[in-house]
Amino acid sequence: MALQLDTALIKTASRCNYDCSYCYVYQGKDTSWRDQPKRMSEDVIDSLIEQLIIQANTQTAGFAIVLHGGEPLLLGLNKLTALIRGLRQKLDPERYPISLQTNGALINKEFLDLFSSEKVSVSVSIDGDQGANDIARVDIKGNSTFSKTVNGIKALRSHTDSEFLFAGTLSVIQPSLPAIKTYDFLKSLGSPNMDFLMQDGNHDRLPQGKSSFTSTEYGDWLCELFECYTSDPTPVPIRFFDDIVRLLLGDSGTKEGQGTDPYGILIFETDGEIRKNDTLRSSFDGADFFTSRWNVRNTKISDVLSSSEFAEYAHMQIPICEACKSCELQSVCGGGMPLYRWSEDHGYDAPSVYCHDHIKIIRSVKERLMLEGVECV
Ligand code: SF4
Repeated sequence: MALQLDTALIKTASRCNYDCSYCYVYQGKDTSWRDQPKRMSEDVIDSLIEQLIIQANTQTAGFAIVLHGGEPLLLGLNKLTALIRGLRQKLDPERYPISLQTNGALINKEFLDLFSSEKVSVSVSIDGDQGANDIARVDIKGNSTFSKTVNGIKALRSHTDSEFLFAGTLSVIQPSLPAIKTYDFLKSLGSPNMDFLMQDGNHDRLPQGKSSFTSTEYGDWLCELFECYTSDPTPVPIRFFDDIVRLLLGDSGTKEGQGTDPYGILIFETDGEIRKNDTLRSSFDGADFFTSRWNVRNTKISDVLSSSEFAEYAHMQIPICEACKSCELQSVCGGGMPLYRWSEDHGYDAPSVYCHDHIKIIRSVKERLMLEGVECV
């Protein structure tokens, strides 16, 4: 049976007002963003709304809609209103949650009032305190973006509907800095949910701060963070750990990159092109293209989902290398996200470049659960 759509990730703007040094979109090998319109046009917005509503009527499960960029707020209030209201006319918030991932700089009351009335939650990208955030998250002149982002979070928190609006923070791990400082800072900012990402990298280009395939800088950092999390009497939920626990208990995870369930994720570019997960771009130029270069202007989403190329792409989540297939942690780790498995010589046929980091943190969580008498897979 063809996979259903889990996540429609919409690139409302293909440019950014920040110039983060680790960005997989603008600092990676792929340059296709240069050919994209800077912002989604009204025509594409109309086609996208139409196709997502058709898809909602075609499949049994609901799906998540994520507004992304570049910086999604660069689309501007009028077009964002048209997009969101158009979707919300037919897609209710329970089955079709809409969220927005932003760097926070452009958040203002007008945007927040729109998001509040149409039930759009907001997650803000910030890597920790100023020391952590300034390592990579700079503007096009190389200046710190920290205060702009923190001001955006303050605006979010001071809105009357902030409890719904502020979904949480998304942070890229800076393994050279203490995890406890990051955790304490994000908690002091009022983040209601924290999520963390590894830095981009693969077997040909090791991630920042990782000295070799067998080193465990990220695993050590995550173990320190897990210690903060479990020793805090009032912890802030951290999805990365909660998914490891779920998977260790034999349940499913909630996001690509952990576990072995394939996810039905499609990206919609500003010109309407339908693509694979854009994190694949860090592997090679064009890694996220479907051969047919489908576009919402003339293609039904169900036609993409039922294609053999989509099935192949979705099943990339399941690792194919022998090391992963025989690994005792495979059901929890899932081989990590495909982009981390890449090398010119072996393609995606390898364990994650973070394999040893995954082993370290998963074993640490498992030991903790077993100490508490919990049975794990
Ligand atoms: S990446 Fe490493 S830890 Fe993960 S499944 Fe593969 S071999 Fe196991």
